Amino acid sequence: MRTPLIAGNWKMNKTIGEAQALIEELRSLLPANESVEIAVCPPYVALTAAKAALAGSSIKLGAQNAHPEPKGAFTGEVSVTMLAGLVDYVIIGHSERRQLFGESDVFVNAKVRAALAVGLNPILCIGETLAENEAGQTEAVLERQLRDDLVNVSAESAARVTIAYEPIWAIGTGRAATAADAQQRIAFIRAQLRQKYGAVADSIRIQYGGSVTPANAEEILSQPDIDGALVGGASLKAADFAAIVRAALK
Ligand code: PEP
Repeated sequence: MRTPLIAGNWKMNKTIGEAQALIEELRSLLPANESVEIAVCPPYVALTAAKAALAGSSIKLGAQNAHPEPKGAFTGEVSVTMLAGLVDYVIIGHSERRQLFGESDVFVNAKVRAALAVGLNPILCIGETLAENEAGQTEAVLERQLRDDLVNVSAESAARVTIAYEPIWAIGTGRAATAADAQQRIAFIRAQLRQKYGAVADSIRIQYGGSVTPANAEEILSQPDIDGALVGGASLKAADFAAIVRAALK
């Protein structure tokens, strides 16, 4: 009942020309299918060119961040309003935004609500640090993030949110969570969503993210509660990203 989403977070990589070339390669490699949704999230400057390069393809487009105000004196920022109509998805609350740019749960929540209000589909990232994991605080962290990041988000709107469970210690480290651990955490997240949203929780997609590669994708993606992946490093190589999509199709 939930269509998995494999989304590539390109982070601060790829010039406009490189983005166009990667999309062309992806279009030739990715199988046309209806059982897995695919999205790429290039840097802002490449979004318009990426949209043109994706014309006629089922691959969706996403942004990596957005400011919740529609416009104004926020030098360097791009608003949800500016992205509406250009992208389908927007990554919100990525751990790099939280850790490197000091984004709080209150700000993340404002972004989620603003994105939903203009028709964008948020990919809300949550996850614990290594220290929190080792201190046995993972569930408490996830519970707090879900509570604070989804304040005033109705059940109807929540159905349009994709949650990405991304343990911070697994991002870009080559050390993915085991499939069993990822399944357990994601089942916990779904149980929290069920408490808040009832049966709607069963239609909310929850991805895993953190060092997903062609080698570990099949095992991770075959877990019952894991609805796809948010992929960083491996999304920069067309062959690797396509292999992860194929693993999701199995
Ligand atoms: C990410 O940044 O969202 C991510 C999952 O990165 P990586 O796949 O490189 O660990």
